[in-house]
Amino acid sequence: MSFKKKIAFAFLIILVLSSIINAEGFIRYLVKKGDSLSLIAQRFNVSLQELIDLNQIENPDLIYVNQELKIPGNEQKYRVKKGDSLWKIAEKFAVKISSLIKLNNITTPDKIYIGQELLIPANEVKADYQLAFRGQAVNYIWPVQGKISSYYGWRDHPVYKERIFHTGIDIAVPYGTPVYAAAAGVVEFSAWSEGYGNLVIIRHRDNSQTYYGHNLKLLVKEGDQVKQGKVIAFSGNSGVSTGPHLHFEIRIDNRHADPLIYLNNNYLRNNR
Ligand SMILES: [Zn+2]
Repeated sequence: MSFKKKIAFAFLIILVLSSIINAEGFIRYLVKKGDSLSLIAQRFNVSLQELIDLNQIENPDLIYVNQELKIPGNEQKYRVKKGDSLWKIAEKFAVKISSLIKLNNITTPDKIYIGQELLIPANEVKADYQLAFRGQAVNYIWPVQGKISSYYGWRDHPVYKERIFHTGIDIAVPYGTPVYAAAAGVVEFSAWSEGYGNLVIIRHRDNSQTYYGHNLKLLVKEGDQVKQGKVIAFSGNSGVSTGPHLHFEIRIDNRHADPLIYLNNNYLRNNR
């Protein structure tokens, strides 16, 4: 074995060993004002018992602001693209290469192929990191202020009466509440859309999109450039909706994301 190969081999062994010690699979969350354990469980679509167990909580009624909780996270799938390496993928998702190797039973890390499906481990810093990785972090402000009446994730749909994935958050606000652009961008859509009612979609500089649904009146048109905070609509109850609220979505790389992870002041950084 050449010296280089020996080094590579030793490195691999270290990676595999460290993955056994470091594999995590949870998200870190800092408790904020108004949180209860059951609200947090609902928001992240995990069971209360899972939260209690993972955090070894003795009294679920006693959580405090800024307490750090571990939230069980879910793995996701990724298909290898041209130009990818395991290192690039690990960087993109802010996961340890060792975790990728372990989770996917990879024996030769330099031999991944286009189209290969990889499992990406759940990770505590993923959301922040993905934005940082783009080098142009978009800072989203709240489009309206109000109580969240429905969180992102699986829920029993109030109209369709079945379990449906809720692709955004619902913020309960009175009819006619001004809706602000969460970040600057270009209006990509502003019209009626089945289900969403009067919908605005804005595309942002990092290519992410925000969706604003169920509006009463739309104030922008396709192609408009909007600044962050511009009033783009008045909220309402149009489309499939059971009461006045704003349905707000963030899509990153054409994938749904939990807005609460991205809206400022709400997520709960790791300790770096
Ligand atoms: Zn909704």
